[in-house]
Amino acid sequence: MKPLHHLAPALLLCLSLQAQARDNPLLSPSPLPLQYPRFDQLQDADFAPALRAGMLLQLRELEEILANPEPPSFANTVEAMERSGQTLRRASTVFFGLLGTVSNEQRLRLQREFAPQLAAHRDRIQLDPRLFARVDQLHAQRARLKLAPDQLKLLEDLHRNLLRAGAKLGPAQQERLRALNAELAVLGADFNQRVLQGVNAAALRVETRAELAGLTEAEIDALRQGDGSYRLALLNTTGQPLLERLAHRPTRERLHRASIQRNQGGPQDTLGLVRKVLQLRAERAQLLGHATHADLQLADQTAKDVATVNGLLRRLAPAAQARAAREAAALQQLADREQDAAGQPRFQLEAWDWAFYTERLRAAEHGYDAGQLRPYLEAERVLVDGVFHSATQLFGLRFKRRPDLPRYHPDVQTWEVLSPAGKTQALLIVDLYARPSKRGGAWANAYVSQSHLLGQKPVVGLHLNVAKPKEGEPTLLSWDETNTLFHEFGHNLHALLSDVRYPSQSGTAVPRDFVEFPSQVYEMWQTWPSVFAHYARHHRTGEPMPKALLDKVLGARVFNQGFATSEYLAAALLDQRWHQLKADAIPEDLMAHEARVLREEGFSDGAGLVPPRYRTPYFSHFMGGYSAGYYSYIWAEVLDAQTVRWIAAHGGLDRKTGEHLKRHLFARGGSVPAMQLFEGLVGQQPDLQPLLERRGLK
Ligand SMILES: [Zn+2]
Repeated sequence: MKPLHHLAPALLLCLSLQAQARDNPLLSPSPLPLQYPRFDQLQDADFAPALRAGMLLQLRELEEILANPEPPSFANTVEAMERSGQTLRRASTVFFGLLGTVSNEQRLRLQREFAPQLAAHRDRIQLDPRLFARVDQLHAQRARLKLAPDQLKLLEDLHRNLLRAGAKLGPAQQERLRALNAELAVLGADFNQRVLQGVNAAALRVETRAELAGLTEAEIDALRQGDGSYRLALLNTTGQPLLERLAHRPTRERLHRASIQRNQGGPQDTLGLVRKVLQLRAERAQLLGHATHADLQLADQTAKDVATVNGLLRRLAPAAQARAAREAAALQQLADREQDAAGQPRFQLEAWDWAFYTERLRAAEHGYDAGQLRPYLEAERVLVDGVFHSATQLFGLRFKRRPDLPRYHPDVQTWEVLSPAGKTQALLIVDLYARPSKRGGAWANAYVSQSHLLGQKPVVGLHLNVAKPKEGEPTLLSWDETNTLFHEFGHNLHALLSDVRYPSQSGTAVPRDFVEFPSQVYEMWQTWPSVFAHYARHHRTGEPMPKALLDKVLGARVFNQGFATSEYLAAALLDQRWHQLKADAIPEDLMAHEARVLREEGFSDGAGLVPPRYRTPYFSHFMGGYSAGYYSYIWAEVLDAQTVRWIAAHGGLDRKTGEHLKRHLFARGGSVPAMQLFEGLVGQQPDLQPLLERRGLK
């Protein structure tokens, strides 16, 4: 009788969904290898019923856990929770995966509809007093439960997460919390949609080829629209890479202004949303017993508190600003010299001139400009002979094309990742190109996460926003895009080398300020001599990039680092300063406050020479999972710079290094405390020195 009772609720639901289950590919595990999503079978109409059924099923699974008359045990409570919610996970990873890569009106509407429902669903679980009572009891007994280290950590993390989510608040406070979470979810969805609309609306229309001087003929052709005009799409960051080469100064100014003025006023305005979000987040933090949202967010990070983060950022800022000021002076001199030589009037260097004169100065001082590298950075070659090749050398992984598996867009490629023994280890979806339906930036995701408990192997995605060339033309990457490809694949490796028991500890399920660490370390192989020689070949002739050119690139490593570090730190401090405000201190005029904060921290404001990498109205990290967490990149880079040194001193690119990296980092996910992993990896405590040297900030 008991097993039947145990199964009954799920069975009933399955019966009621039977009519849909025949058609809806999200309601059952995919029969494709590793449960690879059935992109070819999916219709937009499948998402809503699958998300609803997923939530319902998980609540029923939760009720079964709570109805168990046996006293709580690790297996019947913590492990049972790890098993729950598989339909919801399947439906939501596919939904959010496609929302980010190929959105449409219907998907955007669903996001808005489901954002508050999913928030309410999480609250229903996390604020259930019966669940907390069971977990709390186990937590109190944890020393006697004979748990393995990963199990003990899972229990402690779960207990802490429930407390952080408000499990111990009174009913009235919990009700307010639920309302705040639901409203924040809607605001977050609205913000993301308007940022995407804003970046598309800000695309620059140019009428003549002369205004695009500096770009190659092929590039100009690729920008051409049906009506004969030219469209310059924007990237999500303040800086726009085309500014490096656009020789026509008025076009540069227009492009830069279009970028920095995004999402202020008009139908894509986000300022009202941001203001509301800041207020509600601050109120929620206070409800949960923290002074501000930043305090709440940092409490479970490796940085631990606001003072530590402010301390790091403010220690780096003056050196970066001083370096940027020296760079600005050198750029002004160069611009003056060139204007004098051409018999043209001098002008004051503006933000839209920075990248352009930086490339000219790079050519003058270091003997090359960024454009010279592109012919040697053909995307497919970089991916296969660079990024994949490094993983073969380190981890013995092999890669095989899988054109037989369905794709959600014709530009996407799917690869099978084979273990050293030749077994299927993972599937990887590579999605390189920008399109209006895709969100900005670069990111990695997991459609299926590895876990021994569920017997699952990873299906992961890698996304960039590279401009697609005209049909028949090669995709030539910039140096930065090449770096990003290595970086994002580092995140993929973190997921696909994962070798853990529990889904909640899989791959990249580590503190946010640690998650960039493995991917940043992987960037080191971009310039590793044997890797570089393998991939950096001329796309037409196959000739390797001349060693002299690479030496120039390496010799220019700290070139423009004052600018790069300053624009990053400005955004990181902005993120902190916004989230270190209390609810009643959120100003009316956000842009005036943004300018004031940046000046107080010693930076240019948005209209200045070195604007922040993202301004408040289009700072997507700030709204998503990186709220009060944008500092994570430089925080993780401290560990990264130290690790790169360690690797170079201990053998470099070989299987022995790979095994060490895997055992102490890539395979462990969140099953071991993050800083314990770091110290096990390099045998040292974190040290700021290697980072300062790398960025020329000593
Ligand atoms: Zn990253």
